Amino acid sequence: MTARVQYLSSSLFTTLREAPADAETSSHRLLLRAGYVRRAAAGIFSWLPLGKRVLDNVARVVREEMDAIGGQEVLLPALLPREPFDVSGRHGEYGELLFRLKDRKGGDYLLGPTHEEIFTQLVKDQCTSYRDLPLILYQVQTKYRDEARPRSGVLRGREFQMKDSYSFDTDEEGLAAAYRLHREAYIRIFERLGLDHRIVSAVSGAMGGSASEEFLAPAAAGEDTFAHCPACGYAANTEAVTVPVEPRGPGLAHPPAEVLDTPDTPTIDALAARLGVAPSATLKNLLVRVDGEITAVGVPGDREVDLGKLAEHLAPASVEVVTAEDFAGRPDLVRGYIGPQGRAGTAFRYLADPRVAPGTAWITGANERDRHARNVVCGRDFEVDRYLDVAVVEPGDPCPSCGEGLCLDRAIEIGHIFRLGRRFTDIFRVDVLGREGKPVRVTMGSYGIGISRAVAALAEQTADERGLCWPREVAPADVHIVAAGRAVQTELARDIAERLGAAGLGVLVDDRAEASPGVKFADADLIGVPTILVVGRGAAAGRVELKDRRTGTREELDIDSAIARLTGRPARLEPGGEFEEHLAVRAAAGGEVAQP
Ligand code: ATP
Ligand code: MG
Repeated sequence: MTARVQYLSSSLFTTLREAPADAETSSHRLLLRAGYVRRAAAGIFSWLPLGKRVLDNVARVVREEMDAIGGQEVLLPALLPREPFDVSGRHGEYGELLFRLKDRKGGDYLLGPTHEEIFTQLVKDQCTSYRDLPLILYQVQTKYRDEARPRSGVLRGREFQMKDSYSFDTDEEGLAAAYRLHREAYIRIFERLGLDHRIVSAVSGAMGGSASEEFLAPAAAGEDTFAHCPACGYAANTEAVTVPVEPRGPGLAHPPAEVLDTPDTPTIDALAARLGVAPSATLKNLLVRVDGEITAVGVPGDREVDLGKLAEHLAPASVEVVTAEDFAGRPDLVRGYIGPQGRAGTAFRYLADPRVAPGTAWITGANERDRHARNVVCGRDFEVDRYLDVAVVEPGDPCPSCGEGLCLDRAIEIGHIFRLGRRFTDIFRVDVLGREGKPVRVTMGSYGIGISRAVAALAEQTADERGLCWPREVAPADVHIVAAGRAVQTELARDIAERLGAAGLGVLVDDRAEASPGVKFADADLIGVPTILVVGRGAAAGRVELKDRRTGTREELDIDSAIARLTGRPARLEPGGEFEEHLAVRAAAGGEVAQP
């Protein structure tokens, strides 16, 4: 961080006692209250001076680590022509997420949600030979997505900052190396930022498991759920958890299927209660439209269908739950009494969870009002067109890797690394001349980090009941000086600030004349700079107080010792480093510790 002294008396700075009622997450409330961001419109934010510094600090760490793996920084436009997105098909696929606009001549444009198309075109234009590769290009840029529910502040903006990078290689080994470099760089980035994170596989087996991994920051406010196994360390986005399936016999041992009268049992609970069976003995058949076509999805009755997982499996096809109108035109589809067997078997495609294995017997709808069928055997009475992992993962479900019970936790997705392969280079026909003189199709990776989201994720993970509490690497300043008193204290505070600033530290000085010491102390805690220096009553005797924001430990010293303490070390003190250890030792000793 460059040395700076910022005086609150002359800064664009106001704290709020209460956050607006519509601020739903604690990071959003605190960033608003502490004067880091202001809302301009739903999901669109202005970054005020303190917030801008944290944002820049996150971006600086990301840039340093991207540079360290040989990434070259570029800046592509955010306002993009529609044409490349038509070529890739994503103009349509993105649906309502895309901000589309027209220029004065009626030409079609969009605000970039991510930049695979544009980088692919750039490399096609610029690179002709294998000697031009490998390449890692990155940018830190504003992205636009018209998110459906932008209610958690900068965690999910409609305008947000992303670091996106793209690797270009001529062979699989090159792509694997670029992927590994990114994975390692991301680990270093999140460690330096002080973000607790987990790496989880993001897509299921179909793409080879390691094709895509997400970096998740565990936090209650997270919109993602991930499963992890305490026994073997397996971790995956719940959408990527695969269900181990036990092979079953052909099911000949089951008695023949039989239809039962079950009046008023359109729900699993009503059915299970009437028949006196566990919901897991029944088969739940959810009707959806896949690209418009009616499709049934079968899961055991005690399970829910994970629509996100289903959409992921079927992408780019659209998946919608059926509506009352869909039933109106289809007397063969009896709402609440659907079954995959018999005549209805031809009425819709049947997708099923692997638990609906060949040889398993079920109680399911008989395709007639108020009637169900039992001993309906998979493979004998109905066929499954395609097996998909579509059930919501529950805590205690077996770990796909060791079989022990899984745990589920909430998290924020802060990064995503993806082996794209030739998906985009095939579409845009990106070839370079290979070593043997023949054209070689380029292979690609794409890698994102949510810069603005990381600020909020850090706030979520580190804040306490008094306010924000930044790790040193990202804090808006190294030291927050509180002038708790009259002119003398304010003069002295400014003097200390200049000395610390000259020594290379970032300093925030609360020299506001109108604010009481109580307000200033509360604001210092709310703002969350790691070290607070109080110039108070002891000032006349040349003494000040150092307070560690995180641990709350305090120490009174004379001014020169305090300055030496803060400047005698690198401007960025490591979290848990010497100074904090010193304070911790003092706290443990319950008294004064000898000056170093
Ligand atoms: P999500 O599932 O949260 O919508 P995504 O899968 O759409 O994320 P990517 O397209 O992989 O995200 O984008 C790369 C990174 O950009 C994400 O890992 C995340 O950190 C960040 N990001 C994505 N959408 C937003 C947003 N609306 N606001 C802030 N950051 C975002
Ligand atoms: Mg998204």
